[in-house]
Amino acid sequence: MKWNSIVVKLGFSILLIVLAVLLPLSFIMNQIFTGFYFNNTQERINNLSERYATSISSLDKEEFLGMFETLGILTGQQILIVDDQGTIVANSGLPSLPEGQRIAEPSVALLKKGSTVQEMYTDSKIDKRFLSVGKPIFSGEEFIGGIFVLEPVEEMYQSVDMIEKAMILAGIGALFLAIGFIFIVSRKLSNPLLEMEKATRKIGKGDLQIRVEASSKDEIGSLAAAINDLAIELDRFRSNRREFFADISHELRTPITYLEGYANVLENELYQNEEEKKQYLKIIQQEANRMSKLVEDLFELSKLEEGRLPLNFEEVDVLEVTENVVFKMKIKAEEKGIKLELDRTIELPNIYADGFRMEQILINLVDNAIRYTETGKIRVHLTKEHKAIRISVTDTGGGIPVEDLQYVFDRFYRVEKSRSRELGGTGLGLAIVKQLVELQNGSIEVNSKVGEGTAFHLTFPVEKRDENEKG
Ligand code: ADP
Repeated sequence: MKWNSIVVKLGFSILLIVLAVLLPLSFIMNQIFTGFYFNNTQERINNLSERYATSISSLDKEEFLGMFETLGILTGQQILIVDDQGTIVANSGLPSLPEGQRIAEPSVALLKKGSTVQEMYTDSKIDKRFLSVGKPIFSGEEFIGGIFVLEPVEEMYQSVDMIEKAMILAGIGALFLAIGFIFIVSRKLSNPLLEMEKATRKIGKGDLQIRVEASSKDEIGSLAAAINDLAIELDRFRSNRREFFADISHELRTPITYLEGYANVLENELYQNEEEKKQYLKIIQQEANRMSKLVEDLFELSKLEEGRLPLNFEEVDVLEVTENVVFKMKIKAEEKGIKLELDRTIELPNIYADGFRMEQILINLVDNAIRYTETGKIRVHLTKEHKAIRISVTDTGGGIPVEDLQYVFDRFYRVEKSRSRELGGTGLGLAIVKQLVELQNGSIEVNSKVGEGTAFHLTFPVEKRDENEKG
C-alpha cells in the first residue's frame, strides 16, 4: 500500500478529526472541572477561616489552640495559627511548618493590613498540595495574629490525571481505529480501484476482452460497470471498423477488376472493331462513375456513423419537399414506363428537420422504387398520425424476400448483388437513409411481398419549437 493512497489519506483524516475533537474537549473538561473544584473549595475554606478567626479573641490559651488543632484533624483539613509576628503557635499536622517557625513575610504583612491570604501550598515533607486561605485575628482593634485553613487538593489532581489518561487512551483508540479503517477500506475501496486502473491500462493497449468485477451496487460498482461498457463499446467499434474496411476493399475489388481487364483489352488492341472499342470505353467510364459514387457514399456514411455530418434543422414543409422529389424523379420513372404519384389527404403541419436531407432520403427511396420496379406505379403517400407525420413510398416491383427484409438497412447488403450492380447500386443507399432518418428523430420500416411490391414507411415527430428558438 502506498503512503499517498486515498485510503491512507482517509485514515489519517479520521485520526486528525478524532484528535481535533478529543484534545480541545479534554482541555475544556479539565478547565471546567478544576475551576469548579477550586471555586467550591475556596469558598468553603474562606467561610470556615472567617468564622474561626472571629471566634478567637486571644492566642494565650494553650487548650484553646489545641482545640483548633483537633478540629483540623477531625475535619480532614489542616489548621495553622500564627501570632502577630507570623510565628506558628498552633499546627494541626503539617510537618514542614512546626510550631515556632515563621511564615513568609508578605503573608504576615497582608494579615496585618486585615486582608485575606489565598495561595497554593505544597508540603514538601509529605508531598501534598493544599489550597490555603488565611484570615487575620483581631482582639478589638488590635491585630494579634492569623488563622490558616488548608484543604488538601490531591484528590482533585488525581481525578484530572484520570481524565487525561482516559483521553490518551481514546487517542490511542482513534489511532487503532484509523489503522483498522485503512486495512478494511483498502480491501473494499483501494483494491478494486487498483484493479480498475490495471484494466483501463490494458484497454488502452488494445486488450478489449478484459472485464472488471462489478458486483457492488455502489459508486465503485457503477464505475466498474462503466469500464466494462467502455471495453464492450470499443470492441464493437473496432470490429465494426474492421468489417467496414473489409467491406470497402471487397466492394472496390470488382470495379477495379473490370477497369484493369478492359484497360488491358484496349492496351493490347484485343477488340474486333471500333464499335467494340467504344463499348469497352463505355464500360470503363461506367465503372469509374460507380467507383466515384461508391467513394462518395462511403464518405457520407462514415461521417454519419461518426456523427460528423452537421444537420441544418428548420421548419420543413414536408409536402413541398415531397412535391419537389416527385417532380424531379417523374422523368426517370416515365422513362421506364412507371407512374409516379403523390397522394395526400389532409393539411399537414410543418416538422422540425433538415429540408435538404429530407429530400435526399425521399430521392433515395423513390430512386430504389424506380430501379427495382418493372411495371406498375409508385405512390408517395403523406398522412398525419398522432403527433407525427408518415411518409410512405410504395411500389409494385419484385419485392424483397422476408428473410432479407431485416438486413436491407445494413451497409452493402443487396438481395441480388448482380442486379443491384447492373442498376448502378452501391448497397449503401438504405444504410445512409436509415442514419439520416434517425438523426432527425424519425423511424423507418419496410413491408414487402415478393411479386407484389415494397413499401417503405417513414415517421417523423411534429415537434413544436420553443419560444426562445423562434426568430
Ligand atoms: P442498392 O444501392 O443496392 O440499391 P440500397 O441500400 O439502396 O442499395 O438497397 C439495399 C437492397 O435492398 C438493394 O440491393 C435491393 O436488393 C433491396 N431494395 C431496396 N429497395 C427496394 C425496392 N423498392 N424494391 C425491392 N428491393 C429493394
